[in-house]
Amino acid sequence: MSQYHAPLAEMQFVLNELAGLDQVSQLPGFEEGTPDVAAAILEEGSKFATDILDPINYSGDQEGAQRRDDGTVRMPAGFKDAYRQFCENGWMGLAKNPEYGGQGLPQLLSTAVEEMWHSSNLAFDLCSMLTQGAIEAIELRGTDALKQRFLPNMVAGTWTGTMNLTEPQAGSDLAAVRTRAVPQGDGTYKLSGQKIFITYGEHDYTDNIIHLVLARTPDAPEGVKGISLFVVPKVLVNDDGTLGARNDVACASLEHKLGIHASPTAVMVFGDKGGAIGYLVGEENRGLEYMFIMMNLARFSVGMEGVGISERAYQRAVAYARDRVQGRAAGIETGAATGAIIDHPDIRRMLMTMRANVEAMRAVAYVTAAAMDNAHRHPDAEARKRHQSFVDLMIPIVKGCSTEMAQELTSLGVQVHGGMGYIEETGAAQHLRDARITTIYEGTTGIQANDLIGRKTARDAGVVARSVAAEIDRTAAELAAHGDPSLRAIGAGLAEATTALKAAIDWMVPAFGAKPGAAHAGAVPYLRLWGLVAGGWQMGRAALIAARHLQDGTGAAPFFKAKITTARFYADCLLPQAAGLARTITGGGESVMALAADQF
Ligand SMILES: Cc1cc2nc3c(=O)[nH]c(=O)nc-3n(C[C@H](O)[C@H](O)[C@H](O)COP(=O)(O)OP(=O)(O)OC[C@H]3O[C@@H](n4cnc5c(N)ncnc54)[C@H](O)[C@@H]3O)c2cc1C
Repeated sequence: MSQYHAPLAEMQFVLNELAGLDQVSQLPGFEEGTPDVAAAILEEGSKFATDILDPINYSGDQEGAQRRDDGTVRMPAGFKDAYRQFCENGWMGLAKNPEYGGQGLPQLLSTAVEEMWHSSNLAFDLCSMLTQGAIEAIELRGTDALKQRFLPNMVAGTWTGTMNLTEPQAGSDLAAVRTRAVPQGDGTYKLSGQKIFITYGEHDYTDNIIHLVLARTPDAPEGVKGISLFVVPKVLVNDDGTLGARNDVACASLEHKLGIHASPTAVMVFGDKGGAIGYLVGEENRGLEYMFIMMNLARFSVGMEGVGISERAYQRAVAYARDRVQGRAAGIETGAATGAIIDHPDIRRMLMTMRANVEAMRAVAYVTAAAMDNAHRHPDAEARKRHQSFVDLMIPIVKGCSTEMAQELTSLGVQVHGGMGYIEETGAAQHLRDARITTIYEGTTGIQANDLIGRKTARDAGVVARSVAAEIDRTAAELAAHGDPSLRAIGAGLAEATTALKAAIDWMVPAFGAKPGAAHAGAVPYLRLWGLVAGGWQMGRAALIAARHLQDGTGAAPFFKAKITTARFYADCLLPQAAGLARTITGGGESVMALAADQF
């Protein structure tokens, strides 16, 4: 079986040369996150991923998390110990506030580290991901008392966190949430209701679990404006910080699901015995607003799951393709009658598709992470605003496109294995099953696409979208003027794809108001077009940087040559899809909606 190895050279390249870690580490508060420190952290993270998390990924999938009759949950063998080591090594608090015990490192660096967890063991990693989300919610709007009571233990990983949003009738539409929260007059609330699909709602890693719960107070207005956010610990915490009585929260069952078997997905019941004690976060009726602020990071992280799992599927496919001997490859003079399947042009097509898309998605995501750091910490207010606009545009693209692409790439991973890919022992099938959830949770692809065409494109009449497209054009022009014909070809492909993107933006802005049905029918193709072209943009930038290194004789020449070759593949074989997507967006909406619902 193939072993996961973090692609450290590639990660360093993207961090340092495309995303600008050096600049990020000069932002106030990030002085510790220098490229040298980053290199040491990545090295340690890669060992943890390879030695601790990767070996229990397959066994965890086979065994799964199990609910016992008393409502407790037994995690698969090795997971509890891995979690203990994860916390002891300080991984939980890497990018968290030092005031609560975190290391305060940039999001950019944390993104690269998290990619390793996503690659090596997605089901394990979800616990820390959800805990990070809960920490952020409390830090963002919690009172000082709430922060002091919960954050140090959560940042250390002594207690984990969950996000309780979904109910049977409230999934994509959280305005339909019905869980009730009744004020008790002493500053606390009593919550009652049922939440479904709660990741790590119950487990045996820690003594306490801190649930973040969306609920309605009795006199709350209908819809999105009547939802509040509460902290509901599994075990109540005494004033001196010790654990007190068990709260009225229970795991009623665990779901049986397609993938991420080691991640317990719980049905949670609040208030079966009179009401679960909860503490309001921020103000009443503003819960959804707080969730949306946080969702940027959560959605970004799920996008990174798409990158991580695709990288893992790619590594496994390469290892198998080198090993498996079958047939004689067309056009390759190996001298032997048969050879490894990696010589077959169609296998190469699949491996190049995987490689190029993973590199492109990673680059787009890391560049977005750097913009997040700048949006928070840049000393100049105008620059902060500019970076935030870029982040806002890119979040649905990173989330929606990386996860959709992960479906295709993990499926190609199976295909490279032939029949063995369909057999569980190779591990390729697990990646496909595990990846399937990523386009669904934290907002489905349809919801990301609605966000992209509405709030992120039409609302400002396409100003930010067009300014990013103009930046892509500048990269294309730089490539077109290059002395190397390969870079000129990349530039030509990028320019053509950007023309398609600009046509789609020009169509989408008026269509969003004038033809909402057609605009929404084209929303996912529009999202995909953005992902494709943004990926081409970063591959083009990477090719320019690689060419400079080759010219100057700095760095590892084989790495930079491969970078240009991969960027050329992206331009030759993937970017031509842009014109087709633009046609689908601008001309396809009416056919999508042409049949009446009763004709299906
Ligand atoms: C394994 C797993 C883990 C999860 N973890 C958590 C968790 O920790 N916490 C939590 O709160 N939730 C969690 N969820 C729930 C998850 O976030 C929801 O499943 C998701 O938001 C979709 O909601 P839904 O399942 O109700 O689907 P629906 O909202 O019913 O959607 C069904 C389909 O309709 C489409 N659709 C719906 N509305 C629109 C629209 N306006 N425009 C276009 N298309 C639309 C969707 O894209 C989708 O294709 C988890 C789910 C799973 C399966």
